[in-house]
Amino acid sequence: MSGDSSQLVGLDAGDPAGVNRRPLFGLDAEALAAQMVAAGEPPWRGRQLAEALYRQRIAELDAITTLPKPLRQRLAAEGWEVGRPQIAQVFRSVDGTERYLVQCQDAETVETVWMPEGDGGEAGDGSGQEIDDGDETGEAGKRRQRATICVSSQVGCAVNCQFCLTAKLGLQRNLTAGEIAGQVVTVFDRHGVEVGRDRMNLVFMGMGEPFLNYENFMAAVRLLVTEVGLSPQRMTVSTSGIVPGIERFAQEPPEVRPKLAISLNAPNDQIRSEIMPINRKWPIEAVMDAVRQLRLRSHERITFEYVLLDGVTDRPEHAVEVARLARKTGLPVKVNLIAWNPGPGIEYTMPQPEAVETFRQALAGEGIPTYVRRPRGRDIFAACGQLKRTVEG
Ligand code: SF4
Repeated sequence: MSGDSSQLVGLDAGDPAGVNRRPLFGLDAEALAAQMVAAGEPPWRGRQLAEALYRQRIAELDAITTLPKPLRQRLAAEGWEVGRPQIAQVFRSVDGTERYLVQCQDAETVETVWMPEGDGGEAGDGSGQEIDDGDETGEAGKRRQRATICVSSQVGCAVNCQFCLTAKLGLQRNLTAGEIAGQVVTVFDRHGVEVGRDRMNLVFMGMGEPFLNYENFMAAVRLLVTEVGLSPQRMTVSTSGIVPGIERFAQEPPEVRPKLAISLNAPNDQIRSEIMPINRKWPIEAVMDAVRQLRLRSHERITFEYVLLDGVTDRPEHAVEVARLARKTGLPVKVNLIAWNPGPGIEYTMPQPEAVETFRQALAGEGIPTYVRRPRGRDIFAACGQLKRTVEG
């Protein structure tokens, strides 16, 4: 978060070419106040701006009428704009899932997915018991919306999981805090989400490895908690096992720390290193050592995401190994099983439905809470591991 007031003062020329466009979205109330003070305004103008950007979700500077018109004009002349990412394309699945191509200011695009009624993995599985869900209608008698939004943290990804389409893009760039939080606010806007009434889960499981963009990822979480008003207990971040990132995450205060999911995907180091080369750097035991540093909230569980690949990770004996691994961690864990979603140019095969059920039963039989994630939006390439900015719907 930049508090560098020189960004605002000293700029007296407009920027018609748009070279020096400066997004306000992404700055927290404190940084906005600092910018206002630097512009000769009282600090409370920063709070007004934060209200407009994050609570009222105003997307155009000129529409922020709590600021006097001359101030809006001056800010615009200095290159400032709301600068929130925008939905450029929508792909709608037969199951109601929507996949968005979200465009940043530099025209780079990432993907965000809206899954109505949760995704069967992060919601509706007991993982959110710590929060009072209330009844199905809000105070005004309006039906509550329930959905899970899958958010991207990087353009592409450098981790190179062999089963993942995003990996094919390589890493293009990190997203800024504003671009990460902006995906959520933009999608809220599209669906008329009322924070506080509607039950929204966020999963940071879209394109990218959040812990390789740690600063911006956590800055986005702080914005979503502090400025937008969301609970971190309704957010889950998934990592491929970046040990320094997990160790840092374990130090975050509970009031801004999302829940943690480890993208495990294999029963042992040998198979994991084959399908997730990152495992050669940080093997399973090193990841678990880092995870043990987290101070969990009551009822909180660590999630193991487990992608089932036909003949590679879906054998019954693998389930027994995963159960042993889960017990060995000494942590309260649950397992989310994901039947692998096919993608062009990836050589794996989808598991048989019977293999998925056998695997689930084997794990559950070992006393591990296990859920099968309903595949969402497969027909629009919105399902797990399918995010590659595909433009066919
Ligand atoms: S599964 Fe996640 S971490 Fe692995 S390559 Fe894909 S986006 Fe990156």
